Amino acid sequence: MDSNYPPEPMDDEGYPLKCKLAGVGGGIIAVIAILFVCHNGMVGSIHTTKMTSMAKVIKAVDFAAKKHRDQRRWGPDKAPYINHPIGVANILANEGGIDDPIVLQAALLHDTVEDTETSLDEIEQEFGKIVRDVVDEVTDQKDLPSKERKRLQVINAPKKSPRAKLVKLADKLHNLRQSPPADWTEERIKQYFVWSSYVLHGVKGTNEALETKIDEVLGARGVKMAPPPENYQGYDKYA
Ligand code: ZN
Repeated sequence: MDSNYPPEPMDDEGYPLKCKLAGVGGGIIAVIAILFVCHNGMVGSIHTTKMTSMAKVIKAVDFAAKKHRDQRRWGPDKAPYINHPIGVANILANEGGIDDPIVLQAALLHDTVEDTETSLDEIEQEFGKIVRDVVDEVTDQKDLPSKERKRLQVINAPKKSPRAKLVKLADKLHNLRQSPPADWTEERIKQYFVWSSYVLHGVKGTNEALETKIDEVLGARGVKMAPPPENYQGYDKYA
């Protein structure tokens, strides 16, 4: 039995008329849609913004990889340093649900100024003022002694912008998950976790998913996110 019964009306060239009309109609609708969204700047901006954001994030990966190319992490496996900023951005995107390209770029770049020959002006030139400002917020003052830098991380954490707080959360989470250096005693590891918990207390209330994971990692060492003691004097003898 002919499944096309009754036969569809055909045009002169033997094409089903309905399809042809649908095609024409579809084409018209598509053109109208494109004109509409172009008029409203949507097609252009959606397409361009997405591509530009992706391109900027990839550029930040490339920039950080070049800057950190000769550095290794402090863990026992001495992994390439770039694993850390990429890991921080990955935590934000895939555990924190963050898709703000500014945060992801800042995460990728967060150690370039502190740990490589990179200036904030260079970051601004390549990635813009907003990324620069977030990177600046998460960069320690290199000219200060380590103990003071660590104290300031605790004191200044609550004053950071929401974007900088996100980078801090993911940065600390990545570090806390890493195996400590082989020569660290249990006491030193514990102190590192306690100091981290003070910094993290200052940036909490920013991303529930990440904070839950941080609670788990700290909890495994018997540590909780907590404010520093009054008149906190700094990290410890290991700083
Ligand atoms: Zn870091």
